[in-house]
Amino acid sequence: MTVFNEYQLRQEIIRVTRIVANQGLIRSSDGNLSVRLDENRILMTPSGLYKMSMEPDDPIVVNEQGEVLIGKPGLKPTSEINMHLEAFRQRPDINAVLHAHPPYATALTIAGLPFPTDYLPEVLIALGDVPVANYGTPGTPALAESIQKFIKDHNAIILSHHGSLTVGETLEEALIGLERLEHAAYTYSLAHNLSQPVPLSEEELTHLREVGERIRG
Ligand SMILES: [Zn+2]
Repeated sequence: MTVFNEYQLRQEIIRVTRIVANQGLIRSSDGNLSVRLDENRILMTPSGLYKMSMEPDDPIVVNEQGEVLIGKPGLKPTSEINMHLEAFRQRPDINAVLHAHPPYATALTIAGLPFPTDYLPEVLIALGDVPVANYGTPGTPALAESIQKFIKDHNAIILSHHGSLTVGETLEEALIGLERLEHAAYTYSLAHNLSQPVPLSEEELTHLREVGERIRG
């Protein structure tokens, strides 16, 4: 695996943030991203900044307890810091956490529908089952608590009435998870508008689950 230094990771946060914003998966100051710098330090987007204006020296370095180690005056870490720390705490195998507000995936939860895992092969292969975490007020410990029971076994989680959380070995991997998630929700919504969506057969779903588990390890 490529090892990135802090300078490169700051550039990578900006690059991935722009991709996420350009695709409409976050708006305004919504969403937050973080990457592991080393065993004890995490680089995290600040709270309240318009994402398209964020610059490479804006992300803040915190320790595993969430204490600020390096940050520009006037900037605080994202208000969802506890959700990021929870993900890193439970997953020593990941280096990146991405929280976004993908409209189609989020709309499904507002409509009271589960995430459509059984309709497109790439979902089960690349993401596996995607759980929907109970609603927790943004910026409070309730949101971190809502992902607690899922994050150990899932790289993609939907946050009810709020957004998504995807994780990966790299930020790009977390981004790819987010894109897949939203594209599946978008395609399902199109089908839902046309008629009653038809899932893949049980036999094919079992096969795809096995393939996915093998690929994802
Ligand atoms: Zn949010």
